[in-house]
Amino acid sequence: MKWSLSSAKTFRKCQRQWYFRNVFASPTAKDPERRAAFLLGKLQSVASWRGSVVDEVISGTIVGSLKSRQLPERQEAIAFARKIFDMQLATAKKNPLREPDMPVASWGRSYAALFSVEYGDGPTAEEIETAWREVVAAIENLLRHRGLLNRLLGAKSLFAQRPLQYQAYGVTVVGVPDLIAFYENEAPAIIDWKAHAVGSSDAWLQLAIYAGALVKCTPHKDFPENPSLRESADIRLLEVQLLIDRIRNHELDDEDRAAAEDYIADSASTMLTAIDGRKLADMSPDDFSSSPFDGVCADCSFKRICWETNA
Ligand code: SF4
Repeated sequence: MKWSLSSAKTFRKCQRQWYFRNVFASPTAKDPERRAAFLLGKLQSVASWRGSVVDEVISGTIVGSLKSRQLPERQEAIAFARKIFDMQLATAKKNPLREPDMPVASWGRSYAALFSVEYGDGPTAEEIETAWREVVAAIENLLRHRGLLNRLLGAKSLFAQRPLQYQAYGVTVVGVPDLIAFYENEAPAIIDWKAHAVGSSDAWLQLAIYAGALVKCTPHKDFPENPSLRESADIRLLEVQLLIDRIRNHELDDEDRAAAEDYIADSASTMLTAIDGRKLADMSPDDFSSSPFDGVCADCSFKRICWETNA
């Protein structure tokens, strides 16, 4: 079973939602319900879609320029963002969930699915306008951080959105840092871009998990030999808040790292207990408790199949 911080958060919010997203959903299953669950899991709010457009622009053009040892150009990055934004908005408005037999990968970069289209009247013109303004602001704020960009230009190699995984606590722990920078003679850096209107309080946990994963994972073939990569304590952890324009350097101590390990161990244990060694065929949504929190169901992508199941 795969474990990630986002799956742990989903499990805490609603065990049944976790079951639909992480156990039941499958893009390739013959069972149309399982494929439907996979597609429902792709639904995003406008705010999270806007964040994923920013991630795509950073990994698609900005990191590309830095890898070519050039400072990224504002005009090029904004033009790329506009193209992605318009293509994905057009797809989202058509609602790709209406074409369930079309594999998500076949949409390429143009894929986006919005919660408000599937379950409502779609995003308002004002929401779209705000999302675009925030995409531009996030990119411009990043491009203004010349100190950070110059540090990245000096990296030996950069890896955007590269999955890291290792076995622990009976699960496969997975982390996908936004950016890993390896240097010739110093410890690597892990960078997490955040495009929230307010700062988040658990970025340290996410970065601690990534640092542990970078040390413990089987390295990708193209990762450089890095003798300094023996201790997660050496890895520099940066949270870059793109909308509120703030960079935070997280310096974690042994207690923080132990707390991150405890978090993974506790969360993995509760998930394994919920599964109880059963195969998918022996489980049903009713085996997993519904959300104890008010308001969670209203925003849940899986409410259609959840409510049908419990009708
Ligand atoms: S609709 Fe509510 S109970 Fe059902 S999966 Fe979603 S959050 Fe959980």
